[in-house]
Amino acid sequence: MTPWFDPTLIFIGGAWRPCASGETLPVTDPSTGVEMARIARGGALDIDDAVAAAEAALAGDWGVMSAAERGRILLRLSHLVLNHADQLAEMEARDVGKPLKQAHNDVIALARYCEFYGGAADKLTGETIPFNAGFTVYTLREPHGVTGHIIPWNYPMQIIGRSIGAALATGNACVLKPAEEACLTALAFADLAHQAGLPAGALNVVPGLGAEAGAALTAHPAVRHLSFTGSVATGRRVQIAAAENIVPVTLELGGKSPQLVFADADLDKALPFLVNGGIQNAGQTCSAGSRILVQREIHDTLAARMAEAIGALRIAPAMDDADIGPLVSARQKGIVERFLAQASPDQILAQAPLPDGLPEGGNYIPPTLIGHIPPDHALAQDEIFGPVQVLIPFEDEEDAIRIANGTKYGLVASIWSADGGRQMRLAKRLHAGQVFLNNYGAAGGVELPFGGVGHSGHGREKGFEALYAFTTLKTVAAHHG
Ligand code: NDP
Repeated sequence: MTPWFDPTLIFIGGAWRPCASGETLPVTDPSTGVEMARIARGGALDIDDAVAAAEAALAGDWGVMSAAERGRILLRLSHLVLNHADQLAEMEARDVGKPLKQAHNDVIALARYCEFYGGAADKLTGETIPFNAGFTVYTLREPHGVTGHIIPWNYPMQIIGRSIGAALATGNACVLKPAEEACLTALAFADLAHQAGLPAGALNVVPGLGAEAGAALTAHPAVRHLSFTGSVATGRRVQIAAAENIVPVTLELGGKSPQLVFADADLDKALPFLVNGGIQNAGQTCSAGSRILVQREIHDTLAARMAEAIGALRIAPAMDDADIGPLVSARQKGIVERFLAQASPDQILAQAPLPDGLPEGGNYIPPTLIGHIPPDHALAQDEIFGPVQVLIPFEDEEDAIRIANGTKYGLVASIWSADGGRQMRLAKRLHAGQVFLNNYGAAGGVELPFGGVGHSGHGREKGFEALYAFTTLKTVAAHHG
């Protein structure tokens, strides 16, 4: 698969060019370990240029464009994404190792974000405020200006859609630093946005290393808002950089999301979601429902059913489109292997065997179900970001809430139970940005505000809420007597 653009270039001011250093970085196919392309090693000079191009866009056509026209561009972009669905899906599958059908889902989500935010662009309004006699007071929702977007490698297209879609809809000019492991679809997106009629400089993409291009973007004094998705450690650095420049920042830092399964739950309905919580995208999902809390009386039944389902999973290179592909990198594989090494043999309840014939250089990890660990065990507390589920028994509602809320994270949670009162009671008590009742994830839910509490981060993306985050509110008070 050869991209239709040159991936060794960066996209600034509506044009392709080499990065300032002229250096490139390898792109390794996670399914095989073989180098498949090279990308630019953008750095601080390129970020300076990208920010300058974004400022120029705001001072030019983009800054005065009507909200309706911004929306039309996003709608055209949505169509272009769908028209390139097969190429984008293959590019993503080969680049990050996700099975082809999961990459296709990400393309659909990217198109849907462009559609949603394209449609919403001219529906965001201010308000009038009753005030003292002789005054008329109203509010204006205005873009921040130049926005910085730091994107991880696990769902590049989805996270670009939710972040860039909302930022462009509200009239910001964006500088995007994709993860070094996942730059190809970000570059493709920039090209398609240009084809859709986005003015030069409204979206700039600078691939490179986090410590170089990423750090330069977060420290740039002309960037007026930062949107980051990734690890807690890097998120902390981004927030410190934002503090230096006194700019708002949205942090989405993953989690250890619990799924509470009560004895009265419909297990046939729950099972696919409980298994999928660990295997979707090989577990490299910020909102993975990877901590299964199960009422003790059905613990053994659920353990047996999950073990059977996990044991039957098919693992293969991304383009073979099995249930699970490789992890994104040898580094990520190492992280997950170190976690698995903390489990004793009796704590491994199930593990799908790796099939013969997998390419030797690929980053494959067998899907694993862990049990018989206390809730404060590292495997039950830390984000593993691999195909590993943990199963923890609880006694009653009180116990379930104590364990569910007993991590530093709080991104997503679910409750599986037939008892409506219990669903309402516990939904209020769970520390999480989203709670799902008898489902998990609502199939992505582009329309649904998303974000965490605690170490899962702060700020909300997705849905209409993101439009508020990507704007600043101005109050105008007119005294006319
Ligand atoms: P990082 O948080 O380091 O990477 C996320 C993004 O931040 C990437 O674009 C990265 O660029 C960039 N970045 C890295 N360092 C800096 C910096 N100093 N300043 C600005 N940007 C920077 O995550 P990793 O890829 O290292 O993954 C490690 C762990 O993080 C995973 O095991 C997982 O637990 C978690 N994670 C969570 C995600 C989520 O969705 N919440 C997504 C990805 C990871 P580059 O890739 O070029 O270094």
